[in-house]
Amino acid sequence: VKVFITGCTGFIAKNIVKLLIERGYEVVGTARSKAKGDKLREDLKSDKFSYEIVEDIIKSDAFDEALKKHADAGVVLHTASPFFYDSTDPENDLVIPAIEGTKNILNAVHKFGTKVERFVITSSDAAIYSYEDEQNGSLSFDETSWNNISYEDAIKDPISAYYGAKSFAEKAAWAFVKEHNPSFKLTAVNPVYVFGPQAFDSDAKGKLNTSNEMIQELITKGPDFNFENAKGGFIDVRDVALAHIKAFENADTVGKRLFMVSSHFSSQMILDILNERFPQLKGKIPVGKPGTGEEDIKTLSKVSNSATKDLLQFPFKSLAESVEDTVKQILKEN
Ligand code: NDP
Repeated sequence: VKVFITGCTGFIAKNIVKLLIERGYEVVGTARSKAKGDKLREDLKSDKFSYEIVEDIIKSDAFDEALKKHADAGVVLHTASPFFYDSTDPENDLVIPAIEGTKNILNAVHKFGTKVERFVITSSDAAIYSYEDEQNGSLSFDETSWNNISYEDAIKDPISAYYGAKSFAEKAAWAFVKEHNPSFKLTAVNPVYVFGPQAFDSDAKGKLNTSNEMIQELITKGPDFNFENAKGGFIDVRDVALAHIKAFENADTVGKRLFMVSSHFSSQMILDILNERFPQLKGKIPVGKPGTGEEDIKTLSKVSNSATKDLLQFPFKSLAESVEDTVKQILKEN
């Protein structure tokens, strides 16, 4: 089966592509630049991988040529979507590309991907709850919950915009399927904060993807770094990658949302893991208030993803394992 994956040079996407190749799939990705596409091809060292350039996912026909060329694709994974918070124009930077990119790939697949049977969208927990609701300990969420933020409220600031963007994009995908009844079946993967190693050690340099950069900051800003004690849900990227593959390999995931959460975390919990497991970082990173992490996360909303775990049937990696592997890779000399 040929798998078509949008945004193949992203953090999560590269981990998916690597796993797909290991499992014998033929993969064609879309990349924004030749440099990034070529680097991935060199890193993978596999003739089962190729890529097409799609510079701007906002253009309505953005994916048409690539899909026409790969009309034999049987699966589409849509991961391309902006994920960053440093924006002064959140509507144009975050919301519009997320929505239009999703509509454009769906239309292209509907028109030209006649062999596509399964379509998996990389959504987010941001489509399950708003940032405020996530932090509200009296609320509970599961695979059936939706972030119903309004467009007007979403474009006010970058965090609301990212949460809104993911919610609007996933809603657009389900609405598309309902309206057009395409030949392919839809599944959503909704990860919380994703940590874990880059697919290739050479990618663990310089500024990292948004979620891992949070860990990198904790180890590079010195012992007096006045860190913001972030908290939320955590899942390892290797589990997210496997979930994308199970999402299209299994029949019982059709029409489902896979809520990918292993546990809750706080920055303090990450620091405790680092101070315990990396003696070479002692004195170079903040200590904070060791052991108080469990208190931090008590204020978070309750999450339940037993339906997802029943469907996927594999255990999710722990925060300690994920943080350790992430930082080992960052510290590796290469
Ligand atoms: P990355 O920033 O590493 O990947 C984002 C991908 O989308 C890249 O391939 C990027 O291309 C592409 N992209 C971003 N903006 C545009 C645009 N305007 N036009 C075309 N392509 C674009 O982040 P992640 O790998 O973490 O994110 C991948 C997906 O996972 C996203 O949909 C994100 O919302 C979702 N997600 C991530 C979580 C996390 O904690 N990491 C949590 C929940 C969901 P390029 O490589 O050229 O920059």
